[in-house]
Amino acid sequence: MFRLIEKLVLWENANNRTVLDEAHAEILKSTGGHPPPIYDPFCGGGSIPLEAQRLGLEAYGSDLNPVAVLITRALIEIPPKFAGQPPVNPAAKSKMSGKGMWTGARGLADDVRYYGQWMRDRAFERIGYLYPKVKIPKEHGGGESTVVAWLWARTVVCPNPACGARMPLLRSFVLCSKTGKKAWIEPLIDNECKTVEFTVKTGEGAPPESPKIGRGAKFRCLVCRETCPDQYIKDEGAGGRMGAQLLATVAEGRRDRIYIAPCAFGEGA
Ligand SMILES: [Zn+2]
Repeated sequence: MFRLIEKLVLWENANNRTVLDEAHAEILKSTGGHPPPIYDPFCGGGSIPLEAQRLGLEAYGSDLNPVAVLITRALIEIPPKFAGQPPVNPAAKSKMSGKGMWTGARGLADDVRYYGQWMRDRAFERIGYLYPKVKIPKEHGGGESTVVAWLWARTVVCPNPACGARMPLLRSFVLCSKTGKKAWIEPLIDNECKTVEFTVKTGEGAPPESPKIGRGAKFRCLVCRETCPDQYIKDEGAGGRMGAQLLATVAEGRRDRIYIAPCAFGEGA
């Protein structure tokens, strides 16, 4: 039994039919030919029902979390329905040879890849223009790159009547805290015009102190340094008076993510 388990746990044997059949035969032997069904009431990602299925057992799972249920159904309920079937997408039809090549879920996987790409392409045709590429600053090698994320801060108007600046409600200026790859947002404060703009800094140094103070929605105005009470920000939010300000654009670099300041965002983009 232990020797069988030693073989079962080897990664290379994950799809080894001989070993799995051997395990199934052993289970049949110890259950008089009537193995019990396996039930995992809190199945999460479905690994226990999946393993039971791999050992040839009747498997059941449940979970309160609908995402877990969806993942488990996709993992253990759908693939067996298409087991051994060839894919139906036109690209596979033209390249298809012998029947033997679509064993297990290979045919289904080929269809998921094909139609997944198809959906991505159709979506890109319709809304792709909303996701323009970003121009990479010269110090990062120049050229264009795909945007991973646009980082925004919500804003409210500073309640100090002498100020009235747009306060970015930021929890932290840190973009990346990994050693050697440190990056943060540096606010550029214009006390005359009462505006705040943002730039991106990397290398040595440390990000400035965050405008968030303590718990809840308490923030400091970056222009007048006045503390703004929690209730004021909540009222502005509830009243639909919150704004938003772009902090940085995150783009795919050759090896790492590149953080680009809003002012460096390509012209016309
Ligand atoms: Zn202020």
